[in-house]
Amino acid sequence: MTSLDEFTLIRRYFTPSALPPHIVAGVGDDCALLTLPAGCELAISIDTQVAGVHFHADADPALIASRTLRCAASDLAAMGAIPLGFTLALTLPAVDEVWLGSFASALSVTAGILQCPLVGGDTTRGPLCISVQVHGAVPAGQALRRSGAQAGEDVWVSGTLGDGAAALALLEGRLSASPEADAFLRQRFYEPDINFALGVQLRGIATACIDVSDGLVADLAHIATASGLAASVHRDLLPMSPLWKTGVTEEQAHSWALTGGDDYRLCFTASVSQRTFLSTLEGLVLVGNMVQADATVSAGTVTVLDKHGVTCDISSHGFCHF
Ligand code: ADP
Ligand code: MG
Repeated sequence: MTSLDEFTLIRRYFTPSALPPHIVAGVGDDCALLTLPAGCELAISIDTQVAGVHFHADADPALIASRTLRCAASDLAAMGAIPLGFTLALTLPAVDEVWLGSFASALSVTAGILQCPLVGGDTTRGPLCISVQVHGAVPAGQALRRSGAQAGEDVWVSGTLGDGAAALALLEGRLSASPEADAFLRQRFYEPDINFALGVQLRGIATACIDVSDGLVADLAHIATASGLAASVHRDLLPMSPLWKTGVTEEQAHSWALTGGDDYRLCFTASVSQRTFLSTLEGLVLVGNMVQADATVSAGTVTVLDKHGVTCDISSHGFCHF
């Protein structure tokens, strides 16, 4: 521990040396000033990671940094926004320059990859806690909301599901994996891909969109609720990585893919007429459809069907009745 004062700390670790032209003022003034592209709305989202709740206090600070920024940026991709910059509220129990050096340099690398520069923040002393607020831009009226899905539309996901839950099982010693699977799962957990380009491409095509952070069933339920519909998902269409899937029971795999969370894929709805086009985009998989709510299936309900069209009981980990 050293006795670094707050402003030296900010200057040393959290002041990017070069900023893109749309950042009129970054770290160092009372507010950051950002120029919003003409005709755009500002998209804002904040994510907080608390030590002992979202990560272990002794976890690698570089991995915490990468994961925190990526998870926050995922919400911008889900709205079809492009990143403008982010602010960081950092609460530290003490000034540990080794920790700070590693955290700040990984944060800066990730900011560079995502083209989302650090533009300001707040630094306080207390239990380790990291909040990242991302700011993005989306052409007015074109954001991908949760509320636009229509009955009969397709439900798509942008890549493999269940990786987040499998990674957590691996990190907690509940899953053994080959070196290749181990590397894949750690990368998916700490460096989830954030596909801003896909979000942009889906403007005007996806009628509703969300990022899968709490699990497909829970997140698709948010689209269903916001759109006043129900949804069906075909369990056997869920894309899963063979790297970990072969090492667990089918029931476990389905449970992770449906309810595991931490996948940071996009889940979106689109008209059936978009199928041909969407099938040409890499990684997209059609997994279900939106249906009218009625007396038996209320709005916001997500039903999981097996290959015979029989409803699966997802509360008991993929077990199917009959
Ligand atoms: P104020 O008191 O006006 O809120 P501060 O003294 O807290 O400002 O911060 C000084 C400057 O440093 C501000 O520009 C603020 O955005 C920035 N800043 C503070 N903490 C961080 C941080 N952890 N990362 C990036 N910028 C920070
Ligand atoms: Mg001030």
